[in-house]
Amino acid sequence: MSAAERIDIQYPAITVTAHFGHGLPLEEFEAGCLRPLAPDRVCLISDANVFELHGHRLETFLEGRGYCLSPVSLPPGEGSKTLETAGEIYGYLCENGLTRRSVLVALGGGVVGDLAGFIAGTYMRGIPYLQVPTSLLAQVDSAIGGKVGVNHHCSKNLVGLFNHPAAIWLDTGFLDTLPAPEWENAFGEILKYALVLDPGLLELLEEAESVESLRQSSSHVIEIVQRCLRAKIAIVEADYYETGPRKVLNFGHTLGHALESAGRYERFRHGQAVALGMLMAQRLGRDLGLVSDGWHCRSTELIRRLLPPPALEGLQPEVVFSFLGSDKKRTAPGHFFVFSTGPGQYQFQPDVPSPPVLQVLSAFLRQPAGDSR
Ligand code: NAD
Repeated sequence: MSAAERIDIQYPAITVTAHFGHGLPLEEFEAGCLRPLAPDRVCLISDANVFELHGHRLETFLEGRGYCLSPVSLPPGEGSKTLETAGEIYGYLCENGLTRRSVLVALGGGVVGDLAGFIAGTYMRGIPYLQVPTSLLAQVDSAIGGKVGVNHHCSKNLVGLFNHPAAIWLDTGFLDTLPAPEWENAFGEILKYALVLDPGLLELLEEAESVESLRQSSSHVIEIVQRCLRAKIAIVEADYYETGPRKVLNFGHTLGHALESAGRYERFRHGQAVALGMLMAQRLGRDLGLVSDGWHCRSTELIRRLLPPPALEGLQPEVVFSFLGSDKKRTAPGHFFVFSTGPGQYQFQPDVPSPPVLQVLSAFLRQPAGDSR
């Protein structure tokens, strides 16, 4: 066990510390993250998988330190990230006597982090919370930057707010229990950082044989998490409320979110949808003359090699397209897209008209296994 490295994230009005390391001692979590908040009660929110693997240990430890705990264990998966679940948890918090001096601890992947951060930002007009990301996706992306929220049948992440946690406890030791498909899931976001922000990360990924070979190398895992963390922190420090450069983090998400919504949040994992969204965006960028043939080829080969696209049969282009109407970045009458234009380079296009978008969707959804080049 080692001491955590402290990385400060400077927001306009506040600094949030991310405590980073591998196999970090819980004593340090308690002293560095929880004790300064002096909570009267702690609600540990997790999903059933993570609770079983890591939640019991944290619960026992904190109870041993004298904290009053109210644990919540949710069904795993995107289906829990809803207003209905939030409503049930508000009731539970109220019945268990959680006050404005209480603290939520979000122990889990992006679903738990987004939902718990949303509940913390709205229960009693806001109580503090801690992000304890346990999935690779949450560690490289969702736990950083303060965006929290829930899905709605109209659109992914439709309801939410900016609500930064009091601190982030980022222990890569949690990843030891993460199943292989969830590693692949995270590579949607990791590829995003490599293609639009970090040429060094791009090089590392291009040299890798597969996600599995990266997973087997702890030094590569640490480097990947650190690089994504640094890239995300630099962007959110520059533009917390996403009025400018932070929009780059939506690369692959315009169509990715539409695919997730069209698949009712069950058909695709988030990372798979983002990877498909990046492939489609690069194709659209090439069609619009914004992405060169050479870079289109290089960037999409990498995505396809590390994350082979899933089968897309049965999805109608018009149905996926209809979900673009509730995209938060939309500027009527056009569609907002981010394109990767070279290693670590990007371009925004805020007003892409509908016909070329529909054309790309049709090209992909008519091919087996998303095999449109
Ligand atoms: P998730 O939270 O559903 O976790 C994926 C699976 O991994 C779950 O089954 C979970 O139980 C399991 N798991 C997590 N940690 C584990 C561990 N250490 N050991 C074993 N199993 C573990 O999903 P996710 O992929 O972590 O996150 C996806 C969500 O994140 C989506 O809702 C997406 O919209 C959101 N997201 C948010 C932001 C943001 O800025 N807020 C950014 C990117 C993604």
